[in-house]
Amino acid sequence: MLVAFCGIDGSGKTTQLNLVKSELENVYVTKQPTDFYRNNERFMQYINCEISVSDFLLRELALLAASDKLKHYQLEVQPVVDSGIILSDRYVYSSFAYFYARGLHDIEWLKEINKYLPEPNITFCFDITPETALSRIEKRTSNCTIAEEHNINILRAAREAFIKKIWGFSKNFVIIDANRSIEEIHSDVMMILEEKIRNERHTAL
Ligand code: ADP
Repeated sequence: MLVAFCGIDGSGKTTQLNLVKSELENVYVTKQPTDFYRNNERFMQYINCEISVSDFLLRELALLAASDKLKHYQLEVQPVVDSGIILSDRYVYSSFAYFYARGLHDIEWLKEINKYLPEPNITFCFDITPETALSRIEKRTSNCTIAEEHNINILRAAREAFIKKIWGFSKNFVIIDANRSIEEIHSDVMMILEEKIRNERHTAL
């Protein structure tokens, strides 16, 4: 069973994923994108604002991201998806939201290049105001920070893309109000997830 955690940076994805992990057994944890994408020279140049952003560049990076996700699915998700619960910190929806926010509005093309990625059994999308996300990012004690995370316009546009589900209908995509306390959010997540697990077991019987 694949469970994805999505939402803008600072929305609390990783915090909630770790809490779920600590409560369930037979859990695998993974994340997207992988280092294949993160360490790519062109992506690094983009993230470090060393190259100018164009439609060509965004398409180049979107193809790289799609390739990374297909590789990630085959190597890390597929081998365990039927034997346990795999929690993924980000999934393809983050790619849609962020490429859209960066200025790539050709949704049909984004759908085409990502169409072979299976839908998770459930996706939690943590919805938060960009202002709150930004203040959390700024408080976060991480030495790995990128300029894009601090760009309120990117956060706003990505949030809008998540809420509108620009990739289309997805019945297993649950929007969670993440402006609340960690405990309140976790309690909602567990309630929804436990019901999903019960239903999946029932279907499998
Ligand atoms: P993401 O993985 O979505 O970027 P994180 O889980 O890393 O977000 O959370 C960003 C920061 O906000 C962290 O310092 C985390 O401790 C804090 N945080 C997460 N959820 C909440 C919450 N509900 N209320 C207040 N702070 C939070």
